[in-house]
Amino acid sequence: SETRALVESRLALIPDFPEPGVLFRDLTPVFADGAAFHALAEALTAPFAGRFDVLAGVEARGFLLAAAASVAAGVGVLPIRKAGKLPRAVLREEYSLEYGTAALEVHEGELPPGTRVLIVDDVLATGGTVAAAARLVERAGWHVAGVSVAIELAELHGRDALPAGLEAYSLLSY
Ligand code: IMP
Repeated sequence: SETRALVESRLALIPDFPEPGVLFRDLTPVFADGAAFHALAEALTAPFAGRFDVLAGVEARGFLLAAAASVAAGVGVLPIRKAGKLPRAVLREEYSLEYGTAALEVHEGELPPGTRVLIVDDVLATGGTVAAAARLVERAGWHVAGVSVAIELAELHGRDALPAGLEAYSLLSY
């Protein structure tokens, strides 16, 4: 599609970042291009039109995408934050990184029970991050409407780490 080509044309590929052997896909030139950013924001919600009430963005690059897409779609945004940043009572989910673990948090009670939440992030790699976000949404009493990412690294099989039956969309897949 036109959007796919536009976004792909702005992607930066960085070999050996953050460590040797990793090809890092950097979206900052997409964010910096008004037309590409706008098209990406709209593409992330289009497959789920009419099926979500709010977007959840995963800190930090997911915040940029979820905020832009939520304004374009006319819905609110839920920040899913790294541990220790939110000031009120939180739910926490830990997930595995290559070395050690990390944790994500949301404010409990931030949304009414049953709210349909579409989770947004920049990259789906092993799926650990988005799976933790999905567990948080479910534990909070909301419904995961789906997962939408700009880029999926298909060889890492992140989809298989997501809850069974969860719909996942990626604009670009490598
Ligand atoms: P996962 O938990 O393994 O799926 O990793 C996904 C998280 O790592 C996302 O929040 C991304 O921001 C980040 N990530 C992994 N690979 C890349 C990449 O190539 N470019 C940008 N971010 C990445």
